[in-house]
Amino acid sequence: MKLVVRFIFFLAIAATSASVSADISVQYHDDREDRRIQVAEMNKTIYVPISAVSEIFSADKYWRQESRQMALHIGDKRFILIVDNPIIESASGLHHLRTPVLYRSGTIWTPIQFIESVIDSFVPEDVVWHPEINLLSLTIPKDNITILDMEFTAEYQETRVIIHAKKPLRFLTDKSKPGHLIVEIKGGQADAQKFTFPDPNGFIIDTSAENRDEDFVLDFHYHAGAKSYRIESYDDPPRIEAHFFGYDVDEEPEPPQIRDRKDNTTTRNYVSDFDLIVIDPGHGGKDPGAIGPNGTYEKDITLDIAQQVVKQIEKELGVRAVLTRTDDSFVSLRKRTEMANRMNADLFISIHCNASPSPKAHGTETYFLSLAKTNEARAVAARENASLKFEMPGDAVETMGDLDFILWDLAQYEYLEESSMLAEIAHEELAKKLDITGRRVGQAPFYVLNGAYMPAILVETAFISNKEEEKLLNTARFRERASDAVVSAIGRYKRLYDKKMARSQ
Ligand SMILES: [Zn+2]
Repeated sequence: MKLVVRFIFFLAIAATSASVSADISVQYHDDREDRRIQVAEMNKTIYVPISAVSEIFSADKYWRQESRQMALHIGDKRFILIVDNPIIESASGLHHLRTPVLYRSGTIWTPIQFIESVIDSFVPEDVVWHPEINLLSLTIPKDNITILDMEFTAEYQETRVIIHAKKPLRFLTDKSKPGHLIVEIKGGQADAQKFTFPDPNGFIIDTSAENRDEDFVLDFHYHAGAKSYRIESYDDPPRIEAHFFGYDVDEEPEPPQIRDRKDNTTTRNYVSDFDLIVIDPGHGGKDPGAIGPNGTYEKDITLDIAQQVVKQIEKELGVRAVLTRTDDSFVSLRKRTEMANRMNADLFISIHCNASPSPKAHGTETYFLSLAKTNEARAVAARENASLKFEMPGDAVETMGDLDFILWDLAQYEYLEESSMLAEIAHEELAKKLDITGRRVGQAPFYVLNGAYMPAILVETAFISNKEEEKLLNTARFRERASDAVVSAIGRYKRLYDKKMARSQ
């Protein structure tokens, strides 16, 4: 239903190409001169021409015609804008605008929302848009304190840390230092004079923190008794919570019965609705995929691994699993996700082998769908997307316009968090079980994941272009281990999913 509404919404924009132009003032509140800029109102949204954005923030802009993308550099901050797409990419991730970037009268137009809510969080100025008086005001310095305070609560087997913030904040974790959990809160700044540390408590031995550039970095030194942790950011009230547990959260046995909150005397069973997984063996038929130096076809390896995965899922997890192809036949990329959507699958996992022009490239990688973060990830996506060239003019892909592409993209956007979690788990299992140097979890625009209405990942088991790894891929033992890894990852994901659903019942 939501998608239908969006569809009409985008069409409406396309239909009302007529726009009303207007003037707005830009006020700096410092020694820069105030200015007036020409904007346009299109479909009740104020759009600013990219040349004006570049003027206001002294930005450099680079246009790439073939992909209809614009890179905007404000100082060392970079933004990627794509024509007809409401998603903006920055170093800290994806930003979802209410309306897409447009191309009209020979120039790029961005919704004013891009300035007031995206650029605002990257520049030192506080950028505020006052629509009633057509005024954009930029104030320096803004009150940049975002981290308020921190508290510890210790209970038996669990220590809770709450970091109160002024607004919802994103974070990265680093657990490379044994006994330490380092949390980098993006855009977090604490008042060095006022911020105090609570006394160490429970599993926490000590804590240190500092404002590092634009981020707030916390280092929790924890007790060996803490076996696992969970950390999450919440919006209301804005805070980050870290929980340290005296047991392994993943291994915590599923309570067989969930107490009914209304009546403590009755119990009921939680029945998992996680019941169908689609496994996609990459390539097939006229599309061989990558070919190894000794002539191994990617399509043969992926089919063999995928067939084992399906058998193992049914046997070990008791969940139904279905293949997108069961033999050496060609299936278009679009049909693969369409099948998963039609069957209402809970997960979509595409299995591939990596390839690189460098014969030394090696290791295992797992990807989830997103705009590419690195050139390397972009190259992997470009290679896998090349399967499109095998598709016939009549295939769905050829008739898909930009509009469909945005909608498909949004479909997967809603599962970003789950997909990234599944990718992390899968990568951990693969790196452990395959015993080849684990590379990383990557994000890239894979066409095959694009249309999935469910968490979806793409696994690049190993490099078929690397002689050693090609040899490994040709052994039954290695393919079995790859299958094992994918199945244990699904098992771990399912346990987390069931636990979450059981709790919310
Ligand atoms: Zn492939």
